[in-house]
Parts: sequence; structure tokens; C-alpha cells
Amino acid sequence: MKTGAQYEETLREMNFKLYMFGEEIKNTVDHPIIRPSLNATKLCYDMAFDPEYEDLMTAVSPLTGGKINRFTHLVASTEDLIKKVKMQRLMGQKTSCCYQRCGMLDACNAVYSITYEMDQAMGTEYHKRFKKFYTRVQAEDIYLQLGVTDPKGDRSLAQNKQADPDLYTHIVERRADGIIVRGAKCHMTGATNSNWLLVMPTSAVKPDARDYAIAFVTPSDAEGIVYVYGRQSCDTRKTEGPDSAIDCGNPTYGGQESLMVFDNLFVPWEYVLMDGETEWAGPMVERFATYHRQSYGGCKAGVGDCVIGAAALIAEYNGVANKSHIKDKLVEMTHLNEVLYQGGIAAGAEGYELPAGTYMVDMLLANCTKLNVTRFPYEICRMAEEIAGGVLVTLPSSKDLAHPVAGEWMKEMFQGVSGASAEDRIRCLRFLECMLYGTGSTGYRCESMHGAGSPQAQKIQITRYGNIDKKKDLVKRLAGIEN
Ligand code: SF4
Ligand code: FE
Repeated sequence: MKTGAQYEETLREMNFKLYMFGEEIKNTVDHPIIRPSLNATKLCYDMAFDPEYEDLMTAVSPLTGGKINRFTHLVASTEDLIKKVKMQRLMGQKTSCCYQRCGMLDACNAVYSITYEMDQAMGTEYHKRFKKFYTRVQAEDIYLQLGVTDPKGDRSLAQNKQADPDLYTHIVERRADGIIVRGAKCHMTGATNSNWLLVMPTSAVKPDARDYAIAFVTPSDAEGIVYVYGRQSCDTRKTEGPDSAIDCGNPTYGGQESLMVFDNLFVPWEYVLMDGETEWAGPMVERFATYHRQSYGGCKAGVGDCVIGAAALIAEYNGVANKSHIKDKLVEMTHLNEVLYQGGIAAGAEGYELPAGTYMVDMLLANCTKLNVTRFPYEICRMAEEIAGGVLVTLPSSKDLAHPVAGEWMKEMFQGVSGASAEDRIRCLRFLECMLYGTGSTGYRCESMHGAGSPQAQKIQITRYGNIDKKKDLVKRLAGIEN
């Protein structure tokens, strides 16, 4: 296993082609806007060395026989699926953001098992290739990130019917030594914090669009990959220097999203994991998405713990912690948050073994978990906002707090109950502001809606696995209906 520092060193050796605010960024490791996202992924490495969390953060790999970081583990039991969610909640609590590394965890489990089934059905050798590569990932604790969501252009048209063929990732040339790829992946979580990428189709692919049924791995800084960094609300507060750390709310940690473009990327055959097998594109992305929908029951519950904690703290600072309506809201928020977690745990507990020997989550429960995630964090945010009060959006800056005149007024006027300094109260409010409307809202609110698939995607799956006919039969039997 690598420590966070060792992992950071691997990133210093990489050479990303990255643009942000109209400039090319050479140092992705120390950039103030990127750094909090790297701190979060780094913690995924360091936590594996903390004896207190060893059971959750590490596992023994059947591939290498050695101890590995659980973020690279191929789930071998329902217990593993449950531990994954527990680990994700823990990491959410420690960072209060998207710490990015589970996209890979879920995608690798999907690709490992789907390529096994592909090889069995078609005599291909994708699984053999992936297993060899993945053994190295585990042994070297490589950060592999997932690319799944294509730009999609006109959503009413299929991949190969778009006016611009690059709106979906596709093969433009098959050569003796490999393939040439064009296209893009949007909403790339943590890409410039990663060493390698795993790219898979974003949706099912029809037989006439076989160049779009493509999966592969590639170094994240390979020639032919261009990144454009995603803006997040209030992101430039991170560039205002140490005096503005309070205004960042969660100054140490944060998520990362970007647009990733493939401009004639070359991928050698040994790294190609799907090449035109259209019937397997849908199953591959469905398996990834379902694993990841379970994951949201962990990470979002962990971040939710922090939002609830901030709401409780501000109520205390304001002297209203014992008011019945405040207590009631905190109970309500806790209830909603625990329902998310229950879903993740249950989807793991009801998991089942796949032909490859790894374990899959319960499809219906994982989709129900994620559908709850598209709703409950919004309710939790609404109640946190109500408890905090309007001061959440009217606070002066921390530079004013440090000013000899303005700061004195602020210290007097923003104090809460005796013992709660204005600065502590402001820190707590800024944390909540970050989670509700700032950089943290990317990971907690909009990602809750759209990450791992938007609500409609879950409803389609719930329709498929909900088995309404069986429910009708139950009633017919009880009510004595014969037809
Ligand atoms: Fe992990 Fe959650 Fe981020 Fe997905 S959204 S990568 S599960 S922290
Ligand atoms: Fe996500």
C-alpha cells in the first residue's frame, strides 16, 4: 500500500494537459483550487495506515495475496460490500466532500466481472488482460479513475447519429498495435488526481454503432488527453490566501470535476477491454452504476453527518439547541440520513455471487438507495438552512473579521451564547454555506441528484427489478381472484 505522501509523489511525476480559467496549469499538485481535492484522495491512502480503521480501510487481495487498500479491492463477499459502504461513510465524515476514489472501486468490480462473462461467452481475452493490469493496480496502489459520461449532444439521437461524431467516445482507427480514440467524458471526478483511467461506454449501444462500444485503460496523462477544469460555486475563495480560509468553509478538502477530451488518443491492444461488442456495453455500465448507487448510501450519509453536525452546532451557538422544533428537525435529518445508509448496507447484505467469483449488490435495493439520495439530502439541506438562519448568506468576509475596525464590530455583533465566539460561529456558518451553496454543494446536492445516474435512470431500473406482476399475484391469491 502507498502512503498519501508516496501517492502525491506519483502525481508530481505526471504531465497533465490541463486548462483552468483560460490558462494552462502545469502544477496540478499545488494549485490552490485543486489542492483540497488532492488532500481528500490522499486521505484515502493515509487512512489505510491508521490502526483504528485497518479493518475497514484494508483487505487481503486474492490476486496479489497481500494486504491492499480497500479502495482497490475486488469484493469477495456480502461482508465486503457492507464494509465498502461503511468505509465510504467514514471517509465522508472525515472529508465532507467527494473523495473521488470509489468511482474506480465500483468500475473495476464491474469490468472485472463483465469481462469474465464476455470471455466465457465469446472466447475473447479481455478478462485476462484486465486481471493482469489490475494485479498491478493493487500491488502498486495505483489511483485509477473512471470515465463514463459522454457529452451526448442531441439526447434524442443515438451515438452514431450525432452531427458531431465525437460527442460520444469512439474508435476512429484500428491499427496493428492498438486503437485511436476520439470523444470526451464529462463530469470527470478526480481525473487530475489519478494515475490511470478506466473508460467505458455511457449507455447501451445498438449493433450498428459498434465503434462506440469501447472500454480501455490508459495513463491519465497520456498524449491525446486534454482536461478543462470544472468551476464550482465560490471556488476562487481558495485562491484568496490563508486569510480567507474561514470563508472557504471546508478549506482542507473538496471534490474535483473536469471535462476530459480524447484527441486521437492511442491505446495499445493490451489495454483494450471492449472493442465493438455492443451487447456488452449496456451490462457493463449498468453493473458499474448499480455498484455506485449503493456507494452513495455510504458517502452521502457521511457528508450528511457533517451537515447535521453543523446544524446542531449552530443551534447550540444560537442558544436554541433545546427548543423542541430544533430537536425535531435534527431528528428528522438524522432519520433521513440513516435511511440512505440503511439502503447501502441492505443492498450489500442482499448481494450475490457473480460467475467471476466477485459479489454484486442487490439491483433493486441499490437503485432505491440512490433514488432516496436524489431527495433526502435536499430535505436535510432545507432543514439545516432553516436552523442556521439568514446570516448564512449575509456574513461579511474573514478579511473584515481580521480588520482592526470592522473586525471589532463583527466580533461583538456575531457572538452567540456566552462562550461561543463570533469566529467559531462564523466558521460553522461558513462550513454550512460551503455545503449548501459553495464548493461543497457540488458533491452534496447536485451530485446527489445526478451522480451515479439521474433519478429517471433509477426509476427505469426499479421498474425492471420491482416485479409488479408478483405483487399483483399476491393480492389475487389473498382476495380469491382467479384470473
Ligand atoms: Fe465516492 Fe461518493 Fe464521490 Fe462517488 S460521489 S466517488 S461514492 S465519494
Ligand atoms: Fe460521484
